[in-house]
Amino acid sequence: MLNIVIFGAPGSGKGTQSENLIENYKLFHISTGDVLRDHIRRGTELGKTAKEFIDQGQLIPDELMIGILAQVIDDNKELAQNGVIFDGFPRTIPQAEALETLLNERGTSVSAVVGLEVPEQELIDRLVKRGQMSGRSDDNEETIKKRLNVYHNQTSPLQEFYKEKGLYHAIKGIGTINGIFEDIKAAIDSINAF
Ligand code: AMP
Repeated sequence: MLNIVIFGAPGSGKGTQSENLIENYKLFHISTGDVLRDHIRRGTELGKTAKEFIDQGQLIPDELMIGILAQVIDDNKELAQNGVIFDGFPRTIPQAEALETLLNERGTSVSAVVGLEVPEQELIDRLVKRGQMSGRSDDNEETIKKRLNVYHNQTSPLQEFYKEKGLYHAIKGIGTINGIFEDIKAAIDSINAF
């Protein structure tokens, strides 16, 4: 199995590059943001709780998020036979530890972490533009700033966490979508996980 964590700040291109990865490596895509937005659309209890955190630019509490992720993994075993692309998870050290345990218990592990690195101003410009086009409620300037702060404080320590494990591959996340994907492919193919 090829389990890829696509990592980066909001606006770094995780969703876009996930689409390329899914197609190229036939992986099952788990975007925790999409899972939560789906709950919000369906008006579930979880969706109501999630919306409060998302609209504040804050993370959903670890315990809740880890439970959701475990459920999605177990509900999609058939579709995930080649492996999974984790998009938007983990976002904290406890989530990364939980992911390791979850995968180990299922006889597998994280194969590689692809870290998309993009300068701060470019992130803000992209997110503002995305908000104008998609109408995502958390893509407004005030919430974007909060999300970037959360990223720096809670999520970016994961770079070190995964570097220490030799799993982190830094990718320059600016340029053309195809050019960036070529770099991602080179990094993944270099680990030879098949
Ligand atoms: P995303 O679509 O990945 O940018 O996620 C949108 C929002 O959903 C985030 O700003 C968080 O509020 C919430 N979220 C998504 N994934 C996670 C996660 N792994 N842990 C906590 N909150 C999350």
